Amino acid sequence: NVRVRFAPSPTGPLHIGGVRTALFNYLFAKKYNGTFVLRIEDTDQTRYVANAEQYIIDALNWCNIPFDEGPNKNEKFGPYRQSERKELYKQYAEELIVKGKAYYAFDTAEELDFHRKDHEEKGKTFIYNWHNRAKLTNSISLSAEEVEKRIANGANYVIRFKMFQPEIDGEDETISTNDLIRGNVSFKKEILDDKILFKSDGMPTYHLANIVDDHLMEISHVIRGEEWLPSVPLHIALYKAFEWKAPEFAHLPLILKPVGKGKLSKRDGDKLGFPVFPLEYKNEETGEVSRGYKEDGYFADAFINMLALLGWNPGTEQEIFTLEALCKTFSLERVSKSGAKFNPDKTKWFNQQYMLLKSDEELAELYNSLLTEKGISADKKFTTKVVSLIKERATFVSDFWELSSFFFETPTDYDAKASKKNWKEDTPELMQELISIIETIEDFDSQNIENVVKEWITSKEIGFGKVMQPFRLSLVGAMKGPHLFDIAEMIGKDETISRINKAIE
Ligand code: GLU
Repeated sequence: NVRVRFAPSPTGPLHIGGVRTALFNYLFAKKYNGTFVLRIEDTDQTRYVANAEQYIIDALNWCNIPFDEGPNKNEKFGPYRQSERKELYKQYAEELIVKGKAYYAFDTAEELDFHRKDHEEKGKTFIYNWHNRAKLTNSISLSAEEVEKRIANGANYVIRFKMFQPEIDGEDETISTNDLIRGNVSFKKEILDDKILFKSDGMPTYHLANIVDDHLMEISHVIRGEEWLPSVPLHIALYKAFEWKAPEFAHLPLILKPVGKGKLSKRDGDKLGFPVFPLEYKNEETGEVSRGYKEDGYFADAFINMLALLGWNPGTEQEIFTLEALCKTFSLERVSKSGAKFNPDKTKWFNQQYMLLKSDEELAELYNSLLTEKGISADKKFTTKVVSLIKERATFVSDFWELSSFFFETPTDYDAKASKKNWKEDTPELMQELISIIETIEDFDSQNIENVVKEWITSKEIGFGKVMQPFRLSLVGAMKGPHLFDIAEMIGKDETISRINKAIE
């Protein structure tokens, strides 16, 4: 029974690294008919951002990878917000104290600071661990009465985990696990510190809440970013201390910047000129708006396809995968260990490919709403035909207008350079004649117009360009656009004639 979770902390908008984690969890769940859970890890109140949770949900929905269980949805294991599970965690922290696996610590910030400085002066690093825990101010060094008294008096305390206990664990105990992507990973227990499980503000730390919830929510596989790999020994030790079965772990490779070195961060998008967020994000504090893929005109399925290949490969040359195909093909074995370089241009390429995969009707619908915004109401059939003529040259639906405005409105000006080059002294006369030729055409379809016009040009024994170029200039306003006779057919005989007339004036 596969149950996976995406467990973001709502500290800001989700960026592509986070969305990729969500996607891989989603694909893994769907592949095994499992459940994809969304859990909001909001125990760090100092970093909480009010609209972040909604942003995360909106982003998953836009990407078409909705969660099966989560806030306000199939709350079988709920609540799914850690802030609403607060009461629960303390009881588990105390359970570990009873088991002798954790302890109260009263050290003040000043005391800890003093130890840190003192160590530094001696060229050492202060680590709160098995070496010195008995010398610090905690329930190991103090008498039971003293501890009780301090707690009764409302003293500030945290609960720390006994990461390593040489008397039980032996001298060089290592913790290891078989990561589903990295293979065997092992860590030396004795160099790890006694992490805080429960804070003085009455909230659990990430580590405690994460483990308790993964256990209670019956999570079978933890799939998350590589930055969490160093937490694995602590997590495994915690499962052991609770005597719970640990889930399987899989740590995804980092997403690297397209240029230079290092991990792609939330700030890189604006600096490097491409979106890193699925949806636009407005920082409520600064008012700053960061670009989103959606608003930049990317199709969600193209974005998802690009994202799937960031760190995963199918083992073949195939690059285009629908979400459905990804659900079948995806496997953790084919996720790489090394960082995946993000390539924003490749996302554009994917968008073009998806443009060609979409039906003209679907694109026409998108284009029509754009036209409506411009105050143009176009017939769906007409727009569908327009789209079929131009889509191969577009990356985004927003490119359509630039490529096809002349289908919807008479050009108001003419490209100056092209006019100078193609509109000669004898052109008006030729265009007049062209009008009279066009007037004779009854069946105004592209092929027919082409036959008649070309026959006339041939009979005149002049170059095609002498007619075709000013003709194009008249209909389009520039030397661009699809097959000219297709345009003429689409705008109709009257409009064709009227545009030539207008150009002559
Ligand atoms: N809340 C953690 C985060 O923001 C979750 C890490 C995990 O998946 O264990 O990434």
